Amino acid sequence: MPLLGAHIPTAGGLFKAPERGKEIGCEAIQLFTKSPNQWSAKPLADEDVVKYRASLKASGIKPVVAHDAYLINLAAPDKSNLKKSRDAFLDELRRCELADIPYLVTHLGSHLGTGEEQGLKRLSESLRWVLGKTKGFKVTILLETTAGQGTGLGYRFEHLRTVMDAVESPDRVGVCLDTCHIFAAGYDIRDKTSYRKTMKEFGAVVGFKSLRCIHANDAKKPLGSRVDRHEHIGQGEIGLEGFRLLVNDPKLRKLPMLLETPEAETMHEVNLRTLRSLRTHPTTTPLSHDLLARDSVALPGNRRGFIVGRVLRTSARK
Ligand SMILES: [Zn+2]
Ligand SMILES: [Zn+2]
Repeated sequence: MPLLGAHIPTAGGLFKAPERGKEIGCEAIQLFTKSPNQWSAKPLADEDVVKYRASLKASGIKPVVAHDAYLINLAAPDKSNLKKSRDAFLDELRRCELADIPYLVTHLGSHLGTGEEQGLKRLSESLRWVLGKTKGFKVTILLETTAGQGTGLGYRFEHLRTVMDAVESPDRVGVCLDTCHIFAAGYDIRDKTSYRKTMKEFGAVVGFKSLRCIHANDAKKPLGSRVDRHEHIGQGEIGLEGFRLLVNDPKLRKLPMLLETPEAETMHEVNLRTLRSLRTHPTTTPLSHDLLARDSVALPGNRRGFIVGRVLRTSARK
């Protein structure tokens, strides 16, 4: 099973996040190590780090994922914006390293009208530059799949593959898959057939070895809308069945699966409970719809079994 958790606000200090996460039942958390809407921040003080580590240890939460600032565009065509973005991203990596945060999630940036190929090239150069500046660091950069709003890159699995090939650092660069983003980008996961097709494609193009983190968000906008609007689990266009398939996918076992849904303070707990309720208990696995359906064929006289099998089969196809 994946390790369920959420993006937790760090108002009041980094050390607050593990405490808050534990309170609502997180097994993993995501956080910002600085304000996501500002270029720079004062460095993490030693005492902040000590307090954070103690709070994390007490919470039992593992792993922690950091997300970088929204202003950063590692594919920016403008030289000064690109430099600012690279410096800011380098600072984010240093903050993670200092606090022993193993993953830093970033988007693939926007080409701003210069074309996807050029954008992906600039992004790859930025990553090579930053990796060169952080040799020996333990933190892994995670490239997040995006919805492809505007001139945003990363809405095709091929974009991630192109960058990973160019960077040639599989030990330092992995992938974060966001369910809302891939759905908005046109990858369907609403039922068994579409889920399998999308995951097969992800496996073939990106590879599950590189997948380190999942963002579990339902989508406010339809399949292929290229609009990034997160919705509560089960209340959006993806729906509960997609998330049932996700939380029970053996390929995602032990991966942090993090909510980035609205109204964190009040709704994270509710959405976590929903995700948890979708997990199939290991002892009930043999009662999957396939087996029940087969049993009902073997025992035609068992009317009850037949009905159960059919009902489950139908509901799984929705
Ligand atoms: Zn993100
Ligand atoms: Zn995300």
